[in-house]
This record gives sequence, structure tokens and C-alpha cells, in this order.
Amino acid sequence: MSYLPDSRVKAIVIHYSATSIERSYTAADIDAMHRARGFNEIGYHFFIRRDGTVETGRDLSQPGRFEVGAHSQGENSSSIGICYEGGVRAAAPNTGFDSRTPEQTAAMIRLIRELLQRFPGAIVRGHREMPGAATQCPGFTASTWWDEVMRNDAPAGQADTALNVKLLRWRLAEVRDRAMAALAANGDAAAMTAFLAEIRARITDRIGR
Ligand SMILES: [Zn+2]
Repeated sequence: MSYLPDSRVKAIVIHYSATSIERSYTAADIDAMHRARGFNEIGYHFFIRRDGTVETGRDLSQPGRFEVGAHSQGENSSSIGICYEGGVRAAAPNTGFDSRTPEQTAAMIRLIRELLQRFPGAIVRGHREMPGAATQCPGFTASTWWDEVMRNDAPAGQADTALNVKLLRWRLAEVRDRAMAALAANGDAAAMTAFLAEIRARITDRIGR
């Protein structure tokens, strides 16, 4: 086992196990496969089962240092490897695709967020995006996927704006319904004028002019 300081980590690399989705595999199975290929243990730091269970591989339990993995040639000493179970169908074992279940995707997002707390500034990449890698793994462009996840992750300010717009819509709908009720009752012009003034006041209050 060899360890390096956390500060060396520049990337989180996503993989698939290239195992058929028709069968289930655990981290222990992958460990056995990697040992059979001559590694001393599973090469990834994490393995995400199809049901979203996250299993651990290479050691990250020690503060300030990580066990070097064996998953992305040339970058093992500067990256953390996450592997999701699957990636191919039994009928087409050489055709990789994004076979992540919703549970796997959710677990992957949670795990990457956690890792970014520990390794701030690390980039998220798929194995096939790494320099010199000749592989389809992990079946999708992880950098683009992660950018999308981040984009949909509205910062606090944007979330507040969205909530304000929702509240304003709700209030306007309430006023509209009351105005419609007054109109339906007897077409009361004075009541309509009062409601319109109320709408005006509420909007003015919101936009400040
Ligand atoms: Zn890979």
C-alpha cells in the first residue's frame, strides 16, 4: 500500500466496472477480479452498487493522506477513483454505455460532493477523458454531466429569487381570484377598483417603485 498527501489529488475519476447489468457484482467481486489481474486489491476507492450502496475500496480513512489507487494510468497518484457497477449488457460486452440507475447517480452525486469537501478544487472526469486513455469507460462524458449537476444546483441567492417569484405569483393569484369572485357576484365597479389598487400596491411593494 502506498499513501500520498491529500494535496496531490487533482481529479476525481469516474469508471464503470464493465460488468453486465444483468448480474450483480459487489466490491468484493471486483476486488477478486482485480487481484486476478495482478493488482494487490481493488483499484478504486469507491464502488457504487446498482441499488446505490457505496462500498469502499482503497483506503481513505486516514486524515490528510490517501491510498494511491490503480484505476487511471498516469494519474493514480493524483486522483480518486469511483466505479459504478455495470456499464455493459451481457449480449454486448464490448459496448459500454451509461447504465447508471437513478440510485447510483444520486449516490455518485452525494459522494462527489463529500469528496470535494476533502479535495477542494479537484475536477470530475470520466476515465475516457483522461490523457492517453483508450477506453469507453464510464460510458458517458462525466465532466459535462458534472457541469450540469452543478448548474442545476442553484446557489442560495438564486434559490431565494425563485422562492420570491413563487410567493409573488401566489399572492397575485389570490388577488385575481378575489377580483373574479367580486366580478361574478355583481360586477361591483368600486370593489374592482379597490382590488386593482391592491394589486398595484402589492406589485409596487415588491418591485419598489
Ligand atoms: Zn475506467
